[in-house]
Amino acid sequence: MDALVVAVDGPSGSGKSSVSRGVARTHGLRYLDTGAMYRAVTWWMLENGVDPADPAAIAARAEEPVLDVSTDPDAVGIAVGGLDVSGPIRGAEVTAAVSAVSAVPEVRGRLVALQRQIIGVGGIVVEGRDIGTVVAPGAPVKVYLTASAQARAVRRSAELPGTVNVDLTKAEMERRDRHDSTRKADPLAKAEDAIEIDTTAMTLDEVVARVVGLVNDLVDVR
Ligand code: C5P
Repeated sequence: MDALVVAVDGPSGSGKSSVSRGVARTHGLRYLDTGAMYRAVTWWMLENGVDPADPAAIAARAEEPVLDVSTDPDAVGIAVGGLDVSGPIRGAEVTAAVSAVSAVPEVRGRLVALQRQIIGVGGIVVEGRDIGTVVAPGAPVKVYLTASAQARAVRRSAELPGTVNVDLTKAEMERRDRHDSTRKADPLAKAEDAIEIDTTAMTLDEVVARVVGLVNDLVDVR
C-alpha cells in the first residue's frame, strides 16, 4: 500500500474529489487535489494583477507563487505564500480564469514537477485531469470518472454556497471542460489503460466501493 498511486481523472463535477478522499480514507492513503494547485496559482495571478488572458505574462511569473498543499484527506487545504486560500480558490473569479492559466505550459511544467515531488514513492490518491496520462503514467490504479453534463451541473451547484442556477453552472462547466480538453499542453484525457466509471446513476458510496475494489484486486494479485 505504501508505494501505491491511485490516479483519478475526469471532467468537473464527475465526483473526483469526494471519491478520491473516500478511497484515501478507506486505505489510509494521502490525497492530492491537483485542481486546487492550478486554482491557487490562478488566485495568485489575479491577486498580483496578472491578466489570465495573457499567456506570456502568466509564463513570466509562473515560478513565483509558493504553494503549500495538505495531503491529509481529512484536512484538505492549500496556502500560497503562507496565506490560506482554500476558500477564495473556489470563488467565481478563479473558476472563470483557471482554464486559461492552467493551459500555459510554464505553469504546467512547474506544477507537474511539484506534484511528482509530493507523490514521491507513493501511498497516495491523486485527482486531476492529466494524472494517468502525464503526472503518474505508471500508476497501478487509474480511473476515469464521467457523468452526464446535467448530473455534473447539479452536483457542482450543490457544492456552491447560496442559491445557484444549474443551467448557468452547466454552461460554465461545459466551457471549462471544452477548454481543458482542447488545450495543447496535457489536455484532459482518459489514459488508454484507465478504467472508465460512469457515475451518473451511482451514489458516492457505490463509486468509492468500486475504486476500493480495484485497489483490493491489485493488492490481492501482489
Ligand atoms: O478540479 P478542479 O475543477 O478544481 O480544477 C480546476 C481547473 O484546473 C480545471 O478546470 C483545469 O483547467 C485545471 N486542472 C488541470 N490539470 C489538473 C487539474 C486541474 O489543468 N491535473
